[in-house]
Amino acid sequence: MAQTLNSLRIGRLQGKNAVVTGAAGGIGLETCILFAKEGANVLMADISGPGLERASAKLKQVIPSHNKVEVKTCDVSKESDIQALVEHVDSWGGVDVMFNNAGIMHADDADAVDTPEKIWDLTQAINVKGVWFGSKHAVLSMRRHKKAKGSIINTASVVALVGSATPQLAYTASKGAVLAMTRELAIVHAREGFRFNALCPSPLNTPLLQDWLGDDQPKRHRREVHFPSGRFGEAIEQAQAVLFLASDESGYINGQDFVVDGGMTKAYVTPE
Ligand code: NAD
Repeated sequence: MAQTLNSLRIGRLQGKNAVVTGAAGGIGLETCILFAKEGANVLMADISGPGLERASAKLKQVIPSHNKVEVKTCDVSKESDIQALVEHVDSWGGVDVMFNNAGIMHADDADAVDTPEKIWDLTQAINVKGVWFGSKHAVLSMRRHKKAKGSIINTASVVALVGSATPQLAYTASKGAVLAMTRELAIVHAREGFRFNALCPSPLNTPLLQDWLGDDQPKRHRREVHFPSGRFGEAIEQAQAVLFLASDESGYINGQDFVVDGGMTKAYVTPE
């Protein structure tokens, strides 16, 4: 009986077409899996071709029966790449959900004195311009297909909200820009029914951060002491929030800095 009810269940994104950038990475892949489970058609996009192949194989393993799931390599800092993604989804009926999630935190990113200009430019090109291009082409697709509603989610970070004594200046500045841009886009497009929200994750258990921390225990402790729960967040915990923001359940949530941080940005001292 439970199985019958389950098979009759309508997915939270049934019939929607979604584009996810950074789909080969931690948050991106978990989000693609949830989106597909909830009935969306998903275009998984990433700069890494082999990463995409691994990610889509994992998705197909977890959900053997799903709607359309396709992969496409792209560099989000190139407008023509983003345009190609969106035009591909135009052939499915146009974009309903755009998750502008690809981002980098470069190992050479540092403080005001030591950050190389080329690292600054590269970080802004991917983390900021990539989100602008994704937002722009999502809006154009939604308009072409006369969508009455759409949801665009842009990945920022808690470092856009609180300062960090271990600086990655280019990264922090880029995520502040994502927050400001998302807020403005939310207001500009509200009467068209297109919602924009920014996701603000705290430090996570994904390759982006964990590869950089490695086995350096003092560096890890420096962070863990600030987490009220005492642990790094998991990518799936971000993906659940993205699913909510993508679905019509969040229909009156617009222009928000959507913080998923286990309470980290609300903490003064944390439990011992
Ligand atoms: P991740 O490194 O696992 O995934 C990022 C993905 O983006 C990778 O698959 C990478 O190949 C892809 N990518 C990089 N440059 C690209 C480009 N130019 N074009 C297309 N794809 C590109 O990291 P994640 O933790 O899943 O990060 C996803 C987002 O979350 C990023 O924007 C990141 O800044 C943000 N974030 C992460 C953390 C964290 O602690 N991991 C915290 C706050 C915010």
